Amino acid sequence: MNTFANTPPLLFGTAQRAAMEVLQAQLASYGIPNQVFTRKSALLAALHEQKAAAVVLDEAGLEDAGMDEVLPLLTRLFKGTVLCVAQDLPVVRQIALLRLGVSGFLSWPIDTQRLIDRLDQLEEAGKSNPYRVLVVDDSDVITRWVSSILQDAGMVVKVIHNPLEIFLALERFRPEIILMDVYMPECGGDEAARLIRQHPQFDSIPIVFLSTETSRGRQWQARSMGGDDFLIKNQESEELLASVSITAERYRRLRHWMTRDSLTGLLNHTNLIQQLELQIAAARLNSLPLCFAMLDIDHFKQVNDVHGHAIGDRVIKSLARLLRQATPSTELIGRYGGEEFAWVLPGLSQIRAAQRVDELRVAFSQLRHFSGSSTLQATFSAGVAVLRDGMTAAQLVEQADLALYQAKHAGRNQVGMAPPR
Ligand code: GH3
Ligand code: MG
Ligand code: MG
Repeated sequence: MNTFANTPPLLFGTAQRAAMEVLQAQLASYGIPNQVFTRKSALLAALHEQKAAAVVLDEAGLEDAGMDEVLPLLTRLFKGTVLCVAQDLPVVRQIALLRLGVSGFLSWPIDTQRLIDRLDQLEEAGKSNPYRVLVVDDSDVITRWVSSILQDAGMVVKVIHNPLEIFLALERFRPEIILMDVYMPECGGDEAARLIRQHPQFDSIPIVFLSTETSRGRQWQARSMGGDDFLIKNQESEELLASVSITAERYRRLRHWMTRDSLTGLLNHTNLIQQLELQIAAARLNSLPLCFAMLDIDHFKQVNDVHGHAIGDRVIKSLARLLRQATPSTELIGRYGGEEFAWVLPGLSQIRAAQRVDELRVAFSQLRHFSGSSTLQATFSAGVAVLRDGMTAAQLVEQADLALYQAKHAGRNQVGMAPPR
């Protein structure tokens, strides 16, 4: 299986085919397939026949048609992202283009790295899963009303009628937002919120109170106990939906930045280890294998010394990008340290996991990184360990680290496996 071959291409529409050559080669070397079209009909035909990652259009138009003629036809065929390249576009023109369906702007000459970052952001945004909402209310009528509104909008809803069951629901369902009744027979919603806020792992889940209570004083009291918003029951369903989606979206973004490394967008060290521990527990529970790989770029100090820190950063980002392409959502990837990456592969035997890591090794070694007018290639070494009985997360990491050390020692650019015990 070649994980890197089935990405849809990036399509360019411009009359300047020659100006695109260097950019095309650079994108290809990053594993981003791309095509240039100089005529309207060819671009539209391509969109008709295949999927595209995004379309980049020259504001100056194509050989046979201007931007304002191409855009409406294109947006009818293609619902994805359309970027416009131009130089110093007046704001009025930008607004006009946004109204015609353009999602963003790039300037000439197109900076490869900036374009790749934009594509990565778009891909990340496109991956977003439906919001997970936990509804806590003793009234059946209310929970049915709330669930039907949220589910119709595509959200995943779990209902509990007894607030004393909340911790089990938090652990199993992992909600991103809690909608909570204020008055319930077992305990008040404000009291339940105060309990939830005692646990650091649940502290960042927003709580929205649902109540018939219109008294401002009572509303503020509930908010002072850890609630984030207060909604009156039986209001317009649009208001409920708007409040839930706005709050969930905001917290999802905050959580994303709290758990991610800012250079690569991968999980940071702390969160990778936390997630690894959860995955180890799940693997034990289901009696499934679990592998952990540690990757480290070879002679990276030299890359920095010869080409500068900024180029070093790009090499790190391109490995992160390849890792993202190679991993389904069940696998975890993180930036473990400076030029070290960790990869958690559940459900695979050690040999199979090592093969996956080796495929990535080959793909990475083939990338050409641009440094001014020259190019460089980089490699990584890796160590793969499998979870054995009684092993802790720290021991699993240590085993992978040892195997990595051996791969380095044996000459680098290879994948080592921790020996069976
Ligand atoms: P080896 O093959 O043994 O791994 O050699 P190496 O040179 O890769 O290993 P070493 O640990 O000696 O050097 C790692 C270098 O990575 C040192 C550090 O300056 C650099 N580095 C760490 N984090 C970053 C980063 O975020 N950006 C850049 N550009 N360099 C970084
Ligand atoms: Mg290192
Ligand atoms: Mg290194």
